[in-house]
Amino acid sequence: MKKYNFNAGPSMLPREVIENTARQILDFNGSGLSLMEISHRTKDFQAVMDEAMVLVKELLQVPEGYTVVFLGGGASLQFMQVPCNFLVKKAAYLNTGVWAKKAMKEAKHFGEVVEVASSADANYTFIPKGWSVPDDVDYLHITTNNTIYGTEIRKDLDVNVPLIADMSSDIFSRPIDVKKYDCIYAGAQKNLAMAGVTIIIVKDEKLGRAPREIPTMLDFRTHTEKGSMFNTPPVVPIYSALETLRWIKKNGGVEAMDKLAQERAKIVYDEIDRNKLFHGTVAEEDRSLMNICFVLNDEYKDLEKPFFDFATERGMVGIKGHRSVGGFRASCYNAQTIEGVKALVTCMKEFEATV
Ligand SMILES: *Cc1c(COP(=O)(O)O)cnc(C)c1O
Repeated sequence: MKKYNFNAGPSMLPREVIENTARQILDFNGSGLSLMEISHRTKDFQAVMDEAMVLVKELLQVPEGYTVVFLGGGASLQFMQVPCNFLVKKAAYLNTGVWAKKAMKEAKHFGEVVEVASSADANYTFIPKGWSVPDDVDYLHITTNNTIYGTEIRKDLDVNVPLIADMSSDIFSRPIDVKKYDCIYAGAQKNLAMAGVTIIIVKDEKLGRAPREIPTMLDFRTHTEKGSMFNTPPVVPIYSALETLRWIKKNGGVEAMDKLAQERAKIVYDEIDRNKLFHGTVAEEDRSLMNICFVLNDEYKDLEKPFFDFATERGMVGIKGHRSVGGFRASCYNAQTIEGVKALVTCMKEFEATV
């Protein structure tokens, strides 16, 4: 049976990315050696790193003065590495969910943290509006897509201070205006690659201002000045990221990804809104195009497991909602197909007909 992968992360990747990466693992560039057993300092791997960096810059139109690096440690390491490098005295955070809260907790190790707004009291079902940012903060940190709750800030905010964004679950799903940001980071395993690499875009002139001694590996300059090769980078994950970047480019770039994301999400949300069994969990204007969360209406609550089983029997994978929301979550990252979301919608319709 064909499987439709709605996993929240690690998540679906384009089939050709997986196949091409597998091929290089068996025989890297015809060298007779595996991608897993070559030095990262070889000419052939340097070419992988160079192309990956160029493609990130090209796809996101990264302006001069920014450097792209590929590091280990996940987005979770960035919760501390980012303030370690950028927090001089005080930073502002928008609390839109668990990941934002974790980022705030780590930032407090390095200075004062101001929470500009929070939707915690409403279980993060909306993006707070009408808040302001103190002028004297070093940056405002936002989580552009809240993977667990299914809310998203799908535009580059206009604020009075530089932005820093955790874009782990929606990077490369739309064009972004990089110059508004001092730093953008994203764990690769949602929308870009296999797990094991984090992509970070930093504004060079903002580095080296923090009034603290930074251990070598945590100092972004260690990596920006050495082309992300200060130590051994995660070679295979970076290669898989390169394959996805090529795939995005070949398929029309981030503008095309954006269009596809709108199209996919509309198909699923339209069905959630139409189907008598379900409703969406978040404020309509803040609905994520990446993680679509929905639950059964109260009168059909008992049908949660039956629907899950029904969908599983028809090839749907990974649609169980996060435990803090419940219900269902269909993650629709770049690799998700229209066919996939239509298959899910068919399940929802067919199940409704059995009730
Ligand atoms: C998954 C996720 C993280 C955590 O990523 P790791 O790479 O596992 O540390 C952080 N932020 C967001 C928005 C996420 O979706």
